Amino acid sequence: MQNYLKRLAKENPEIVTLENYGLSYEKRNLTLLRISKKNEHNISKPLIFVDSGIHAMEWIGPSQALYIINQLVENPKNSYLIEKVDWIVIPLLNPDGYEYSHTTNRFWRRTRSKGEKCDGVDPNRNFDIHWMGAGGSSKECSLFYAGPKPFSEPETVALSQAIHKYANRTKLYLTIHSPAQCLLYPWGYTNDPPSNERQLHDLGEKVARAIFAVNATTYDIGSSFNTLNPAAGSSRDWAYGVANISLSYT
Ligand SMILES: [Zn+2]
Repeated sequence: MQNYLKRLAKENPEIVTLENYGLSYEKRNLTLLRISKKNEHNISKPLIFVDSGIHAMEWIGPSQALYIINQLVENPKNSYLIEKVDWIVIPLLNPDGYEYSHTTNRFWRRTRSKGEKCDGVDPNRNFDIHWMGAGGSSKECSLFYAGPKPFSEPETVALSQAIHKYANRTKLYLTIHSPAQCLLYPWGYTNDPPSNERQLHDLGEKVARAIFAVNATTYDIGSSFNTLNPAAGSSRDWAYGVANISLSYT
């Protein structure tokens, strides 16, 4: 994955910039890709922020992110997609867990930070927004363990900083998970609707129709809490509620 990203940046220096935005618990590079026609000379362009692989075992997410990168950079038919919009794509948010899910435990979900009884934290419950609310667990060995404190994990701190850095021109935040066929918008901590629910739902419907048109795959659209499960402390809720990105989806 790292080799592919490095090669892309080398072969397309006018479009692609690689940036290490932090280190994981086990000191692996956390890498993002900026894709920009004018390589960020025009810093007023709107931006789409995509990430994946926060849950280690959800391998299809990083593959999907790499496919998005491939289509934006290497398919000339799609060059119009980077004409007026800049992109940031993070294919792998949790490299330690991803590695562990390959070497040791195929169903590993969490990070790999040292615990007392059990290692790792569910990074998608670790963000500092209604932390340890509905859907987050205080039990160290739970799949949904929210951590000893908000932002206890270097991976979630680094992601929040990266989101924050580009937030003022980010029009859309999308974090890719699997396997549910859902487009989820905030909130994860409460069943109260987000303030722009109509807008979030309408765009979700449009996306779902476009997906259906390809392979007749159906996607459910709704708030995370009401459609899939309660999930307080997620990156999506944080991007929406703290970084003020009004179109934030899982
Ligand atoms: Zn997930």
